[in-house]
Amino acid sequence: MRKLSLLTLAMLGATVATSPAFADGDLKIVDTPLELTIHMHWPRAQGYGVGGTASEIYPVEEAARAMTGISLTDATVGSNTTDSNEAMNLLIAQGDMPDIVGGHLIKQPVNEFGPQGAFVPLNELVAEHAPNIQAFWDSHPEVLASITAFDGNYYYIPYLPDGKYGRAWFIRQDWLDSLGLEQPQNVEELEATLVAFRDNDPNGNGEKDEVPYFARQWEEVNRLLTLWDARSSGSDTYHDFYIQDDKSIAHPYAQDSYRDGIANIARWYAEGLIDAEIFTRGSSSRDYLLSENLGGLTHDWFASTSGYNGKLADKVEGFNFIPFLPPASPSGVRMEEHRRIPVKPDGWAISHTNENLVETIKYFDFWFTEQGRLLSNFGVEGKTWNMIDGQPVFTDAVLNADAAVNSQMYLEGAQIQRGYWQDYRYEWQWTAQAAREGIELYDTEDLLVEQFLGVAFTKEEQAVYDRYWPSMRTYMLERNQAWILGTGDVKADWDDYIKTLNKMGYEKIIDVINSAYTRQYG
Ligand code: CA
Repeated sequence: MRKLSLLTLAMLGATVATSPAFADGDLKIVDTPLELTIHMHWPRAQGYGVGGTASEIYPVEEAARAMTGISLTDATVGSNTTDSNEAMNLLIAQGDMPDIVGGHLIKQPVNEFGPQGAFVPLNELVAEHAPNIQAFWDSHPEVLASITAFDGNYYYIPYLPDGKYGRAWFIRQDWLDSLGLEQPQNVEELEATLVAFRDNDPNGNGEKDEVPYFARQWEEVNRLLTLWDARSSGSDTYHDFYIQDDKSIAHPYAQDSYRDGIANIARWYAEGLIDAEIFTRGSSSRDYLLSENLGGLTHDWFASTSGYNGKLADKVEGFNFIPFLPPASPSGVRMEEHRRIPVKPDGWAISHTNENLVETIKYFDFWFTEQGRLLSNFGVEGKTWNMIDGQPVFTDAVLNADAAVNSQMYLEGAQIQRGYWQDYRYEWQWTAQAAREGIELYDTEDLLVEQFLGVAFTKEEQAVYDRYWPSMRTYMLERNQAWILGTGDVKADWDDYIKTLNKMGYEKIIDVINSAYTRQYG
């Protein structure tokens, strides 16, 4: 018997190699072709089809049809707006929902309208019919908790990014070399380095024109807080709440460590170690300060920032801007606060009008199978990639094209905002060598901290949050900027600041967030 089954397997193997259609047979969900309608609205396309139009179907959709027997047809509402929230409001208002509702920023609406009956709860459907999605939840329970609505159900399958790091600390290694300096390993050495950049003319033009620390987003000035054991955010959203001591939610800008960190940042600003125009220079500052040979250090994305060594090789002699490890704080902590979020508020849900619930959830599960993941990440095998030594590898045509690989994938129907699990191998293939080396360097230390993945409020909690948070956030940021710019002294002002936060409802906000957090994450 054993010989026979081995022989059968060998025959199957041979058949698989020559007949893709047969190989895909085990992914078939329906024998009779089934058509489902879909709303798919996201920044890159306002519709499910190449360029957002229904007339040209994605190559990935065509392959998925062949594999599963299920086809999706476009029924996107709001194709004349690029605002996905607005499109969702139109869809909900018109009432006539397609079978699947997907795209950008669907978490909030499905968690609000799901419990009211507009969307189907997925808990039992997934547990019974979607073993690949269930396996993901079993190994990532915190991600499942983060998408769960206040009623304990979840209503969408999210887009799940892959990869650990987002931003990193970058320094002009050629400036260090010309001044005979080593990379700074702690905040004290970093300060000495920035002073040297300011005073010792590392760009060699005889002028004191260097900008030691700069950032494209002014909010990154607060990232310096992490160098003094404070926090600037708990997630990849600026100024967000954070998980304190592994157990409760607090706001970083109401902590004593923040007071001390801001005092240091204000001092650095006053001493010219931070770009004088940090709050106003804006998104072109990285381009400008690097290409003019003026900027020394920043905190920005691995991939895009590493690209400057190639771009400026001919313009700035010896230019070498590379990632270095986060300098240690006074307590000895090296922290990279920014990281990729493991789950997005994007993905897809099943509407209450859908009459094929089991088939639809099996279809959602298909995208979490090995074949489905390859298809959703890399496009169609043989067209945009090939399997080489067990690894999916993009074709030279894809890697060498003028358009970025992600932009090419969007037109294939890969990397679009369906509920899918990203595969970092997709991005690694077109990540510059300097960034790869930086990522490997960051992997030598335990730099990342736990992220606050958000909470789903009840109606009452939401009302408290909406009443107090927007004005408190405005007040916090107004004080934040004023202190850094030297208007007021954070240490002298601190007691009044905390009193004002309490008057503005800080305790009430913290209470509702923590009750939601405990309910959701246990
Ligand atoms: Ca100079």
